[in-house]
Amino acid sequence: MSIYTCPHCGEKTFTPIKKAVSGTMKSKGKPCPKCGKLCVNGKGATVFEAVYCLIAFAFIVVIYLNGLKSEWMFTHEMPMCICLLASMYVVPRIVNAFCFRLVQSIRLDAYK
Ligand SMILES: [Zn+2]
Repeated sequence: MSIYTCPHCGEKTFTPIKKAVSGTMKSKGKPCPKCGKLCVNGKGATVFEAVYCLIAFAFIVVIYLNGLKSEWMFTHEMPMCICLLASMYVVPRIVNAFCFRLVQSIRLDAYK
């Protein structure tokens, strides 16, 4: 079974881009073009995002704590933190586009 297969109707309806924007199990997900039911990236993607954010956050703390140690760190502290924050948003989406299975959205408000 392909990772782009809809968990509701079993048709291969998702593309890497559509899968990337479907979010993780914490989000509402995107509707399948064929059956219209919501799909999200599964447990693997959800865990990956959480772990990645934790690591990126740890880096931000380390950079922040070392910010005053040298001239170079002082001037590069902000851009590095911004890049890390941006990567928290971008990296899980890129990974989601090519890895992990799609699952049915478990959010209750997705079915209202
Ligand atoms: Zn479907």
